[in-house]
Amino acid sequence: MRTRRTTLAATVAVATLALAACGGGDEGEETAAEPSVAEAPEFEAGTTMAELAEQGSIRVGTKFDQPGFGLENLSGDVEGFDVEIAEIIAGGLGIEPEQIEFVESPSAVREEVLEGGEVDMVVATYTINDKRKERVSFAGPYYVAGQQIMVASDNTAITGPESLRENADAKVCSVTGSTPSENIRQYLADPGQLVLFDEYSQCADALGNGQVDAVTTDNVILLGFVAESDGQFKLVGEQFTEEPYGIGIPKGDVAFCEFINETLAANEEAYAQAWESTAGQVEGAETPTLPEPAPCS
Ligand code: GLU
Repeated sequence: MRTRRTTLAATVAVATLALAACGGGDEGEETAAEPSVAEAPEFEAGTTMAELAEQGSIRVGTKFDQPGFGLENLSGDVEGFDVEIAEIIAGGLGIEPEQIEFVESPSAVREEVLEGGEVDMVVATYTINDKRKERVSFAGPYYVAGQQIMVASDNTAITGPESLRENADAKVCSVTGSTPSENIRQYLADPGQLVLFDEYSQCADALGNGQVDAVTTDNVILLGFVAESDGQFKLVGEQFTEEPYGIGIPKGDVAFCEFINETLAANEEAYAQAWESTAGQVEGAETPTLPEPAPCS
């Protein structure tokens, strides 16, 4: 696992102010959409919120290789919608974006890093499901994605999940410990068709060099790779699952879960702007409205 600090939000905030000034906007006036950092918020003693606010920093598990959600840039900062969501939550705790420590957390280790106390929360295209809820709790959902399939642009044989069975020689790539890697099995003629890596960027590379014929995961993750592929990749078929993204937290921390849900609900404008400046930049990614939170448990 690699660890990085990010200064993205600060950069964006400065750029937004500069743009507002150029465009004749009200100078000095803070746009409502900027993630705000609460000033000396107060929390009940003994809660996770009180502890983190007192400490002034937070550790967040995220992806480092997924365009639009969590991608490490050339300066070593991580950027994307999940990063922005983490910044909104940190802001509610009075924690500046610079004080967030992002810890790379590929799909298979997300429960582990929460259970081991290596991170305080996981924001990492993390689908809420019952199996995971046995080990961790989830705030949210903050977005609902759906599984889809990506192939090379010149591939006309694979048109959706069903066609994987008809093309029994075709290899489909996904990631260990992900929900799509499990869901796809029912569509295969042979289990040997499934190729698993640790990260989706490895699947995208394998598709690019012809080692595999398809990649499957959530539509919005795939859209990021399509956008980066310079016309090499395309999505096929409709989405065939629902993947509600939650914020993973240590199991049973109901107060922290409720705090996260309230913080997101109080920052809907920042939420929409976070989407538009990250995952929403790619074609076909519509700005979502914040889904109703699930009950915290
Ligand atoms: N949302 C799915 C999951 O949590 C796929 C994306 C991912 O692996 O992060 O497993």
